[in-house]
Amino acid sequence: MAKPIVAVDLGGTNIRFGLVSSTGEVLARSQRRTEGQEGAARTLERILDGIAEMLDEAPRGVVGIGVGSPGPLDASGTILHSPNIPGWGRIRLRDAVLKRFGLTCKVANDANCAALAEHWVGVGRGTRNMVHYTLGTGIGGGVIVDGRVLEGRDCAGGELGHVTIVPDGLLCGCGNQGCLEAHVGATGIVKRTLTRLRQGTPSTLQRVAPEAITAHVIHRAAKEGDRLALDIIAETGRLLGIAVGAAINIFNPEVVSFSGGVAGFGPLLFKPMRSEVDRRAFRAMVRGVRFVRSRLRDNAGIIGAARALLIEIGRDPV
Ligand SMILES: [Zn+2]
Repeated sequence: MAKPIVAVDLGGTNIRFGLVSSTGEVLARSQRRTEGQEGAARTLERILDGIAEMLDEAPRGVVGIGVGSPGPLDASGTILHSPNIPGWGRIRLRDAVLKRFGLTCKVANDANCAALAEHWVGVGRGTRNMVHYTLGTGIGGGVIVDGRVLEGRDCAGGELGHVTIVPDGLLCGCGNQGCLEAHVGATGIVKRTLTRLRQGTPSTLQRVAPEAITAHVIHRAAKEGDRLALDIIAETGRLLGIAVGAAINIFNPEVVSFSGGVAGFGPLLFKPMRSEVDRRAFRAMVRGVRFVRSRLRDNAGIIGAARALLIEIGRDPV
């Protein structure tokens, strides 16, 4: 059997580690807390320790190390900045890994890794063109064009969460106003709900302390028939549909896939999204598109990071 790849998925809360086979199977995995508030040096230390632990699981050696990280990166594997991990900027991650382990390392954008995983072993398997959205606290995107992930000049392409859908809308973490992420990310959904509650809109959520309102709480209220919660989720779907419609017209994909907590809203979100897509995108292009939810869950990040490493060394398994 071919040697496996050590894969790392760096998130704002957790760092996931995996040993992934050359066919995309997860052979071993572990997890550590990110604890970004303790500073970048400590986070980096935890990443290196986790990699060492995975290397112990592979007595016959590994092909290399793939890392998925949030935030814009450059081609040298340096993370430029990351709004969700405080102090995590200008980190020469690839150099640090190379220095400690002497193994080939590829650092890639985490949302691009999720798209690579879906295209390899997930809902996009067998396609040549797909668009993937990670709908969580923030919104990530990855685009596969003619079988390759779209990276652009700075490996920063495919930021589907940072397209403007509301002129002069809510302020986004990227500095722009009205980004898809600012309105449709979990934080944006909560913000929009709190505004409506402050305006006095009747809702069972008026009885909940504002700081206890999360996307999950809003979803629960919607399932119990709360009008405001249903309105907010439907509006979220329509806003998402504006962005998805544009992506379909630009990329002409076979599959549009979704992962992350907000995708858990299910039909309450996706029905209005579909109506909006149908209203806006070219009918002929929409007709052939499959809209699907990811089934890889927590494993998408590590599987995609492993594929990013294989691509780096000229051994793309797809
Ligand atoms: Zn933005």
